Parts: sequence; structure tokens; C-alpha cells
Amino acid sequence: MWVICGGGIVGLAIAREVVLRGAGPVLVLEEEEDVGRHASGRNSGVLHAGIYYPPNSQKARFCLEGHRLLRAYIEERGLPLLATGKVVVARREEDLPELEEIYRRATANGAPISWVDEKELQELFPGARTVERALFTPLTATTLPRRVMAALRRDLEEMGVAFRFGVRCLGPAGSGKLRTTAGVFPFSRFVNAAGMGADRLAHAFGLARHLRILPFQGIYYRLHPRLAPRILRNLYPTPRRGLPFLGVHFTPWPDGQVWVGPTAIPALGRKHYGILRGVDREALAILLREVVLFVRDPAFRAHALLEVRKYLRRFFYADARALFPELRPEDLLPERRVGLRAQLVDVKRGRLVMDYVVVEDGDTLHILNAVSPAFTSAFAFARHLVGSGV
Ligand SMILES: Cc1cc2nc3c(=O)[nH]c(=O)nc-3n(C[C@H](O)[C@H](O)[C@H](O)COP(=O)(O)OP(=O)(O)OC[C@H]3O[C@@H](n4cnc5c(N)ncnc54)[C@H](O)[C@@H]3O)c2cc1C
Repeated sequence: MWVICGGGIVGLAIAREVVLRGAGPVLVLEEEEDVGRHASGRNSGVLHAGIYYPPNSQKARFCLEGHRLLRAYIEERGLPLLATGKVVVARREEDLPELEEIYRRATANGAPISWVDEKELQELFPGARTVERALFTPLTATTLPRRVMAALRRDLEEMGVAFRFGVRCLGPAGSGKLRTTAGVFPFSRFVNAAGMGADRLAHAFGLARHLRILPFQGIYYRLHPRLAPRILRNLYPTPRRGLPFLGVHFTPWPDGQVWVGPTAIPALGRKHYGILRGVDREALAILLREVVLFVRDPAFRAHALLEVRKYLRRFFYADARALFPELRPEDLLPERRVGLRAQLVDVKRGRLVMDYVVVEDGDTLHILNAVSPAFTSAFAFARHLVGSGV
């Protein structure tokens, strides 16, 4: 029996792959009452085009293939999909070398990408602003992540995958056995796909102790319907070097809504979804990790100083307006959505970890740092993990 901890996209994609290969029965354990309650149901729903990632990274390796597989699944199931294409603009002249680096990476990764000048940008995205030039990829698309998660759950149940909800995985109970809040479960293979809880579970197995998760809060505002019909493509700023975040952007969804965000504000809890809601006993330890990182990692330091201000609406607004100058403060509707990124930190090196991390130990497999674009990558990542005979 394969036991998978975590009912997010990564856990479900692995469950699906195991069943498709006839590799054995599968049980998914999830501490919430449904799948997709955390990152997988609260993300931007973007099927990324694989343009940002260094060519030898796992993100690059699985993003494009994951995009193809997830898109095929969405189309097969008749789920909502909007083929948007995306532009990445320069907010200032210093962004141009970064854009050139993205162009190089995209080309090396085999992602479709082209340069556009200011005039061509207006044809692609009327009203968007850039300095001199921008990048365009036609591949990017969006979907409704909760619909994808619900469809996956239904499919997996039909394929014979068993789910137990409200069960928290705690650690090993001797060889081939998992301790949980609902008792002990024997396994032939155990997969830790616990997202925000993955580091703690790996530590309970005595693994990856130098790796700890730092939560980052992603706040979105909904765009006023006055402007929503004008936003037909994804509009992104040039991201800052050395950081795994893409900056506040515009994302049109297939249901006609447009989301602006998310931020990546260092948070104080693994479920810190509100201003104070979700700040728990671990807050002090998390804060300490943030302080250490602040001191040791210059990229994080610059990021944290700018990002924390975006709790205040006017700073958030200024960021979004830099991309689309017609935006007025009242166009950002107060109805907010929040998602939390389970970003890994290497506490020994004092650095954010940029790529996915997979730790294999005997019959257990631990997936850490399944941050963006892991929603896009999940099917290809799962194919690789299960196929490599873990
Ligand atoms: C704001 C935001 C925007 C994003 N936008 C995009 C995007 O547009 N495109 C993209 O490709 N990616 C995006 N991502 C990244 C993507 O959402 C994640 O990479 C992906 O959802 C990770 O999936 P997961 O299954 O690892 O984690 P999760 O979806 O968090 O699932 C982990 C599950 O494990 C459960 N769990 C945790 N601990 C335990 C335990 N001990 N016992 C039992 N269950 C446990 C949790 O309840 C949860 O359901 C975004 C992420 C965020 C936060």
C-alpha cells in the first residue's frame, strides 16, 4: 500500500500516477476535510510557460511538460481554461538585463518567447507600461484551481484511491509504519507531500534537519469589473534576481474575474491567513528564522523591506499601477484572497532554497519546497518520481 500524506496537487498527482502505472493501492491522508484547502486551492491558477528557471533546474525540467499534461487533463475533463499568453514588463531600465536573462533561460528551456517593443506591447496589452521593451510568451494559460482539485479528487476516488480526511501524519512508528492522529498505518511506500508541513514530517523521519519552511503570505485583491474586461493577458513585472517570487501581477481567470497579486510577505505561521489569524506558538521560531535570513541573505533583506509595506493598500496599489497606469485605487476591491507559500530555507547556509527538493530514504520519499510552479509541474513531477521506482 502506498500511503501519501497531503491532499494538495502534488499528493494527488502522485496518487494518480501510481494508479495509472498499476503500481499498487493508494491511501491519501489529509488533515483537512477536503483536498486543495491550502496552496493548491489558493493559488493564481496559472499554467506557467517555464520561462524563468535555470535550464538545469527541476523547475525547468518539469514545468513545460507539466503544463502540457495538466492542460490536456483540463481539456479532457472540460474544466475552465483561458489561453491568455503573458507579458513581462520592465518597470525601470535596470530591469532590462534581467529580462535578457529570462529570454536566455526561456530559449534554453524550449519555451516560446519573443521580444516586443512599446508599440507591440500596446497591441498585445493595451494600457500596459514598460521601459523600452517587454517579453511575451503565448503559452501561459489560467484555470480555476479549486475546480481542478475537485475533479482530481473525483477521478481518483473512481480509480480506487482511498482518502482519509481529518488525519494528521506525525512520523514513523517503526519500519514500514506511519503514526497519525487516527492510529498507525502500514505502508510499502510512504510519500510526504505535506506542503507547509513537509519539513516537520521529514524531520520526524530524521531527515533534512537543516531545511525549514518559512511561510510567505500572498494577498490578492479582486479587480473592479470596470477594468476586468480589459485584462485579457497575464501581466507581470520583471522579478528580482535571487528570489523565487514573481512580484504583484494581473491574472485574468476563465470565470471573468481578474486577480491582482499575490504579495510574498514573510508570515508568522503556517496557517497565517489573516492579519493575526493563524499566528500560533511557532511564531517566535519563525520570526527568528526570518531575522537570521534578514541578516545573512541580501536578496531576502531587500525583499522583506519592500514587501512588508504591501500590507498597506497604498504600497500594493503603487506596485500594481506601475504595470498598468490606468489603475485607480478604488479598482482594487477589498475582497481579498490569501494563499501561503511553503518556502524552504537552508538554515545552515542562511539562504532561500530556489528549486524543488526531493529526499528519498529507503521506502519513504519527502517532497520539500514544492513552491511555484509546482501546480503547473505536478503531473510531470509525479511521473518522474513514480517512474524512477521510488
Ligand atoms: C499565493 C500562491 C500563488 C501561486 N500561484 C501559482 C500558479 O499560478 N501556478 C503554479 O504553478 N503554482 C502556483 N503556486 C504554487 C502552487 O500552488 C504550489 O506549488 C502547489 O499547490 C503545492 O502543492 P502541494 O501539494 O505541495 O501543497 P498543498 O496544496 O499545500 O498541499 C499539502 C497538503 O498537505 C496537508 N498536510 C500538511 N501537513 C499535513 C500532515 N502532517 N498530515 C496530513 N496532512 C497534512 C495540507 O492540509 C495540504 O492539504 C502558488 C502558490 C501560492 C501560495
